Amino acid sequence: MPASYKGYSALTRGAARRSIHRLMSERLPVHVDPLTLADRGRALSGVVPVSACRRLSHWLDSDDGEFAVELQFGRDESRRRVLTGRVRGRVMLTCQRCLGAFGLDLDLPLGVVLVDSEAEAETLPEEVDALVVGDTATMHTVDMIEDDLILALPLIAKCPDASGCTPAVEVFDSERMSGQDAGTQRPFADLDDSDDADNS
Ligand SMILES: [Zn+2]
Repeated sequence: MPASYKGYSALTRGAARRSIHRLMSERLPVHVDPLTLADRGRALSGVVPVSACRRLSHWLDSDDGEFAVELQFGRDESRRRVLTGRVRGRVMLTCQRCLGAFGLDLDLPLGVVLVDSEAEAETLPEEVDALVVGDTATMHTVDMIEDDLILALPLIAKCPDASGCTPAVEVFDSERMSGQDAGTQRPFADLDDSDDADNS
């Protein structure tokens, strides 16, 4: 019975798709205990809404969208507790040329050594990024990814596609220039003359 088989198959695929979507859209826990997670070799994944990244939002055109975050806790070959992972998502930036909004796709690797104190961080080789988790052993996951996201933003945001990116600043400048040109014609010259006429 090909027709019913086809129907059953479509239903299964739909259900599978729904459950995958539910897994992917689960929020990443806001606070985690990174040291315990590292000792247990645990992995976490979930989404972080762009709007939850308050510091990052200052640099964005809008805080729409979300980041997909994967975190893997464990120990490296030197038995140090480490956190590796990946952050992916799209941010909306304001083009500094045309002042229009455009999307920038980010895909960042994460990699830090988890340490108890600044003193312990000082003992690490220079090329290693340390994250001081302190005595409370609580890590704010959004803070952690936000630093990397802010550093990944371009210094000056510009549309990737130059066609259709009309420089708004130059248009403004040329308007101001023509205003200055009008000024050189001394529009108040008549006023000055009439003042002189009253005084005389
Ligand atoms: Zn532009």
